[in-house]
Amino acid sequence: MQIRYFDNSATTPIKEEVLNAMFPYLSKEYGNPSSIYSIARTAKRAIEEARKQVAELIGAKPYEIYFTSCGSESDNTALKGIAYANKHKGKHIITSKIEHTAILNTCENLSEKGFDITYVNIDKNGIIDIEELKNSIREDTILISIMLANNEIGTIQPIEKISRIAKANNIIFHTDAVQAAGNIPISVEKMGIDLLSLSGHKIYAPKGVGALYVKKGIDFEKFMNGGHQERDKRAGTENVASIVALGKACDIAKKNLPVYMKKLTSLRDYYIEKVQQKIPNIRINGTMENRLPGNANISFEGIDASELLLKLDEKGICASGGSACSSGSDSPSHVLTALGLESKYANSAIRISFGDFNTKEDVDYLVDCLEQIIEP
Ligand SMILES: *Cc1c(COP(=O)(O)O)cnc(C)c1O
Repeated sequence: MQIRYFDNSATTPIKEEVLNAMFPYLSKEYGNPSSIYSIARTAKRAIEEARKQVAELIGAKPYEIYFTSCGSESDNTALKGIAYANKHKGKHIITSKIEHTAILNTCENLSEKGFDITYVNIDKNGIIDIEELKNSIREDTILISIMLANNEIGTIQPIEKISRIAKANNIIFHTDAVQAAGNIPISVEKMGIDLLSLSGHKIYAPKGVGALYVKKGIDFEKFMNGGHQERDKRAGTENVASIVALGKACDIAKKNLPVYMKKLTSLRDYYIEKVQQKIPNIRINGTMENRLPGNANISFEGIDASELLLKLDEKGICASGGSACSSGSDSPSHVLTALGLESKYANSAIRISFGDFNTKEDVDYLVDCLEQIIEP
């Protein structure tokens, strides 16, 4: 059976150009970048080239990029690193109710360590309540962490507004951009971002590599102790091949961004239009105005999401309810709960996330299947 993959927010396949770029570093270019001979220097140079490519995608300087093992590590390093480096100034952190578990569970951990966390609500469109965020700022607030784009409903947060509020109050601002990087334009400078997390496997690079941007001049406590890699901020012999892959994926993303956004938007809009025409009693979750190009989160009233996903799987269709990380559990996701959905909508929501390998024919097949399954 042909597989139709509509779960690009969970992970993406590796692009062939990316594989080709990383392959030499899995074979003949095996030098340890910290050594001094020529094959080591080749590996070192490749890492520095990748650092430049990652920096360019988000408008940062290469020396502001630290390679990590994943988006979750970047989030952990950002939150714990800033919290511990600033604990003498205060112990209050502000985040939102719709963050990825990499943020929420890190905050949970920090709260066990004596930090105080405020979780800001979202409105019915899936956008952070800015007034509530402003009002939750205290004398001892040291960090605000709000995701750039949500992984379930694809809503893009008003990052510039939030960073301005943070700056005015002398608070460090981190954003989890794992879903946004490579999908929408990002400029850390224009958007006023102090720290930013991104991940390889959401943008056609392998799993197990990520990056953290930290603005020059901002100190953070390192997460991993050991050797002096990553300017003494992240120990461990570098995952050279995957770092090269991440660099290449960022380079491709940067060059193709307008075309890519247009393609995903048109697939997404085509899907939504067809669903609206063919299937009654649906609800689109999250605003259509500020939304990732490839995200469609739709509730199909009267059908259970997990049942629908199983039946789609039987037809070769890969999709998610809530997020991949929360699938398997029966309760609606924390994001749909924060949206305030009635249970008939919260329990019937399916996330379709488009990627570079999807076609219009895939969408036709998907909607045909949905029609067949949902019709009594
Ligand atoms: C996938 C994801 C992460 C985690 O990234 P990993 O590389 O899988 O650890 C963090 N935040 C968001 C928003 C994500 O979508």
